[in-house]
Amino acid sequence: MPGWEIIGEEERRAVNEVFDNGAVLFRQSFAGLRNNVYKVKDFEAAFAKYLGAGYAHAVTSGTAALKVALKALKVGPGDEVITQSHTYVATVEAILECGAVPVVTDVDWTLNMDPEDLARKITPRTKAVIPVHMFGVAARMDEIMAIARKRGVAVLEDTAQACGGMYRGKPLGTIGDIGTFSFDHGKLLTTGEGGMVVTGKEALYLGARSYADHGHDDNPAFPRGEDTRSSPGFNYRMMELQGAIGLEQLKKLPGSLAKHRANKAALKQAIQAIAGQTLRFRDVPDPAGDNGDALVFFLETPERAKRVARALQQKGIGFKNLPDALNWHYAGTWDHMLGKAEWLKGRTLEEYFKQSGAILRRAIALPIFYKMDEARIAAIAQELRAALAGA
Ligand SMILES: *Cc1c(COP(=O)(O)O)cnc(C)c1O
Repeated sequence: MPGWEIIGEEERRAVNEVFDNGAVLFRQSFAGLRNNVYKVKDFEAAFAKYLGAGYAHAVTSGTAALKVALKALKVGPGDEVITQSHTYVATVEAILECGAVPVVTDVDWTLNMDPEDLARKITPRTKAVIPVHMFGVAARMDEIMAIARKRGVAVLEDTAQACGGMYRGKPLGTIGDIGTFSFDHGKLLTTGEGGMVVTGKEALYLGARSYADHGHDDNPAFPRGEDTRSSPGFNYRMMELQGAIGLEQLKKLPGSLAKHRANKAALKQAIQAIAGQTLRFRDVPDPAGDNGDALVFFLETPERAKRVARALQQKGIGFKNLPDALNWHYAGTWDHMLGKAEWLKGRTLEEYFKQSGAILRRAIALPIFYKMDEARIAAIAQELRAALAGA
């Protein structure tokens, strides 16, 4: 699961390199002091290259990346932006930050956006759609892209949980018009706090870069103090220490992904062996592209899922948000953000998201770790067997 498991000497050395070269912590300027060390710029270039994306711009968080990407897409008041009911609160927060109206689809058994519901919810006011690749598994992108293209709606992929994931041979985050990543401490690649916006379109890149830096055009013809500007922005700049750590974490990513995928396959096999055909696993549109973040299965009813989860918890087995942090990852509980939405038309969120709730409340998500040996995997399978028998 998290990049923090593999933070080590490489990251420490990279941070020291910044201090050993003038201790310039700012991503730009101070050319005379920094000995040509530009960690954030190098991280952006390496990340873009890794994904085969045209452009990447680093920011302070995955939440900031979402807002910056929406600003680059020129989302504003009066626009509707569609996302899915299973995501982190940040996705909806970013839409609200732009003054736009969040519209939320159900999820299907992929635990990601239900394309049929997306088709129903697009209106002439829809400006963008944000599919979220939860737990490293792609949303049904072929269907989502076809619907969005037909209706002329931009696609922003929230790839916060799916760094390194693929869909039909394409890196997640590079399929839509623009993609965003999070590098917070719980993510597969971490810089403590941080995020990235990636796109193949120069205009979107320039819009994102400018918005994240007070509207600076970064015009090479002028020094920073005399830089040109064409629209207002804000400050979401990443700092050099994060860039230094990100570069090292990116080098470790291929090894980390391989390990996660192998550990997930081993855990799934162990669980299948003890549970036979009785467990339903999550639908994964492209199993080869799964980044191995978590293993999800469903119990027959929400009540049984609760009992099994409680039994596992008592044995020291943790979850990846489902069910323990469901309230932070399921729009059906977000009265504080969506309770007054016009589209609810007097219904409760619980009624509105009947399909999502019925699926999410039956789910148990087991986190996959880098450091998860055979004995640990066997132990989890054994505890699950006991929990299933007793609950
Ligand atoms: C983590 C996360 C974010 C927010 O990223 P931060 O870096 O924590 O701000 C956004 N969307 C999803 C799906 C996430 O999991």
